[in-house]
Amino acid sequence: MATLEIRDLHVSVEAENGPREILKGVDLTVKQGETHAIMGPNGSGKSTLAYSLAGHPKYTVTGGSVLLDGEDVLEMSVDERAKAGVFLAMQYPVEVPGVSVSNFLRTAATAVRGEAPKLRLWVKEVKEAMAALQMDPAFAERNVNEGFSGGEKKRHEILQLELLKPKIAILDETDSGLDVDALRIVSEGINRVRSTGEVGTLLVTHYTRILRYIKPDYVHVFAGGRIVESGGAELADKLEEEGYESYVKGGA
Ligand code: ADP
Ligand code: MG
Ligand code: MG
Repeated sequence: MATLEIRDLHVSVEAENGPREILKGVDLTVKQGETHAIMGPNGSGKSTLAYSLAGHPKYTVTGGSVLLDGEDVLEMSVDERAKAGVFLAMQYPVEVPGVSVSNFLRTAATAVRGEAPKLRLWVKEVKEAMAALQMDPAFAERNVNEGFSGGEKKRHEILQLELLKPKIAILDETDSGLDVDALRIVSEGINRVRSTGEVGTLLVTHYTRILRYIKPDYVHVFAGGRIVESGGAELADKLEEEGYESYVKGGA
């Protein structure tokens, strides 16, 4: 069973007036098969955590460690992390002009699997995954995220998740901007992947509504650049009622 171990992680970004520390000692262990909800107010550093784990160059790790089955993730390039089984669904997915969804997915699958998927099987796999997410097949020929609606972008992220079968999936606000139907479809996709028991999921969210569809094993409150409380699914109910106010006093 794969295990991701984040220990005392400190991360800074380059701001106008010099480096600014955003993550201030994050500790978290995620095992394959587990679902962890990371919940916190806007600006608390949730996306910074997600990007740092995926290896975004804008974020500088100034302390701590991230190990995947004992291997130093922080030493790996973005591609190596993906190949090792770390997947990030971004809060704001980016356009890839001139690259079709179909080519993008095949290139990603080839990189992660270490060999090109057999074309016939691959076409079938993509078709089935798209149908499950109620995506129009014509979508495969569009350029990645170009002119996609918010809901289409998020479905495309989950399509990647279903096809790439990572060990650790970091889903950054996959629920934001979705209407009720899209939220259900996207959640069902996440649950399908989860039900394999082969993915450890970090479900980053600001709102509790996605947790009606996806029951987390653990809930962590994220404030001021670190985890300030951890509990079971019942902690989300408390947050639903009380919000984050009690956690951000003294500054997030
Ligand atoms: P969240 O995802 O929880 O809303 P973020 O990780 O996006 O939080 O941001 C955390 C904090 O870091 C915010 O105050 C944000 O303005 C700041 N921040 C993130 N990226 C940068 C950057 N490149 N330059 C300066 N500040 C940044
Ligand atoms: Mg935010
Ligand atoms: Mg964010």
